[in-house]
Amino acid sequence: MEQLFQSAVDEVSRLLGLEEKELAILGDADAAASELVVSEFEKYVERKYNPEVPVVLKKHNLMGVPIKEEYGGRGARQLVQALFLERMGQTGMGVITFADVHQCLGSLTIQDWGTEEQKQRYLPRAAKGDAVLAYALTEPEAGSDPGSLKATYTKEGNGFRLSGSKYLISNGSVATNLVTFAYPKEGGKGPTAFIVDTKDKGYSVDMRLEEKIGLFTSDTSLLTYDGAFVSKDDMLGPEGKGFSVAYSALLNGRIGIGSGCVGVMADCLNQVKERATSRTQHGKQIGKHQLIQKHIAFIESSLEACRWLVYRAAIKKDEFEKDTKNIPLRNEADRLSAVAKYMASRCAFESADHAVQCFGGFGYSIMSPVAKHFLDTRVARIYEGTDEIMELKIASSVLGKDFEAYK
Ligand SMILES: Cc1cc2nc3c(=O)[nH]c(=O)nc-3n(C[C@H](O)[C@H](O)[C@H](O)COP(=O)(O)OP(=O)(O)OC[C@H]3O[C@@H](n4cnc5c(N)ncnc54)[C@H](O)[C@@H]3O)c2cc1C
Repeated sequence: MEQLFQSAVDEVSRLLGLEEKELAILGDADAAASELVVSEFEKYVERKYNPEVPVVLKKHNLMGVPIKEEYGGRGARQLVQALFLERMGQTGMGVITFADVHQCLGSLTIQDWGTEEQKQRYLPRAAKGDAVLAYALTEPEAGSDPGSLKATYTKEGNGFRLSGSKYLISNGSVATNLVTFAYPKEGGKGPTAFIVDTKDKGYSVDMRLEEKIGLFTSDTSLLTYDGAFVSKDDMLGPEGKGFSVAYSALLNGRIGIGSGCVGVMADCLNQVKERATSRTQHGKQIGKHQLIQKHIAFIESSLEACRWLVYRAAIKKDEFEKDTKNIPLRNEADRLSAVAKYMASRCAFESADHAVQCFGGFGYSIMSPVAKHFLDTRVARIYEGTDEIMELKIASSVLGKDFEAYK
């Protein structure tokens, strides 16, 4: 097992206990992450989506890590899911974006909100890797403010017709199904969540968004619903409760993004350690220059601090899973997931910057592994809640409801 990951697994095992079957998931994660390094880097250099990610995850039975065993998944609690994504994060945020969206925003949302029939219909296929899920909330005119969504639905026969566009959707053009959100056309209610089949003729991918500054290996698409039909059996959660569905998905998703960012920091540390001991300038290994040690100290401290913030959020979410009527516990898990995502995404981006600095001119080359992290990690401060939205959420959790900046 990769050394930094092995020590994290040992520590969690010693302090919190990990069962054999949980260790098996983490062993599979280690194998899958090692296997993905080459294709991830090649596709990053080509600036293309990496189709190997679902193939390798499927091969190692990792497509349904958090899905309950009764639905064909591996039944991982959030803490184990966090460790799994931490290891995958060493390969970069492209892999994390795929896995986080498919598992945390897609599968877990169906598991948390779906009817028994929906769970039976979608989760075994998602766990096996025969279905790929996406989460389509954002629109051209509605990002941080989902209240201004323009997508609408009308009732027709035994279902609904959806109209509108969804923008910046990860896995958008590779997904078989999307969890999505729309307002009733006639107004009056909040938005409703639906599961859309991407084979429906009213669904189209308008454009794969490839002019990004990083995250090339992840698919990002602009989608249109032009009368896409959704059967009444594919409404997810109660009508009008789309925001509750959307926000509960983001609680899980943010722990996933924080975990991936921890993995990025671990890889930055590994890369910098290698470089600091192999590169010589001014007659000594650059790691013997104290100012290089300062960069290393930043990455190491960020990794340690963020790793435990993420674990804490995951543990709180696991507590909530055992007591799902406990709203204060849910709110605390939500707060901690925002704190973990906020800190880990900032620290991962800064760690990548420190790593680029340690690599000098080679760090500025697209061919250096740390430049990939520098480019790919920036998005973690934007998606699943921008830095600013996290700051408002965290500050109002300190000051109280009267200080909420917006409703
Ligand atoms: C590569 C990529 C993948 C993505 N994947 C998905 C996906 O799979 N599914 C999905 O639904 N979305 C996805 N997104 C969209 C992402 O979640 C949004 O970009 C994000 O929520 C911000 O929305 P926006 O881009 O419209 O920015 P805006 O909301 O227009 O924000 C612009 C700026 O204003 C700030 N701002 C906005 N409101 C406030 C406020 N009240 N107070 C202070 N500052 C504020 C923001 O923080 C930001 O700095 C993805 C985005 C990217 C870049």
